[in-house]
Amino acid sequence: MPTPTQTAEIDCREVWKELSSYMEGDVSPELRDRIGRHLQTCKHCTAIYDGTRNVVRLLGDEKAIELPQGFSERLFDHLLRDSHQG
Ligand SMILES: [Zn+2]
Repeated sequence: MPTPTQTAEIDCREVWKELSSYMEGDVSPELRDRIGRHLQTCKHCTAIYDGTRNVVRLLGDEKAIELPQGFSERLFDHLLRDSHQG
C-alpha cells in the first residue's frame, strides 16, 4: 500500500526550510529530487531560490549558506509579496 511520504508533493515551507541544505547539496537524493521538481512548478519557490542564491553568492564562500534567520524570513516575505503583485 502506498505511503504518503513517497507520493506526497513537498510543501513550500518544507522547501524553504531545506533550501540552504539543498544548495549545499546536503540533502538526500530523494529530497533533492522532490525539491527540484517543486522548484520547476512553483514560481514562489523559484523566486526565493534565485534570490537566496544571489544572496549566498554575495556572502561568499566562507560562511557559505548560513543566513541569519530574521534575514531569510524577511527575504521570503518580500519575495512572496512581490510575486503576489504580478
Ligand atoms: Zn513552493
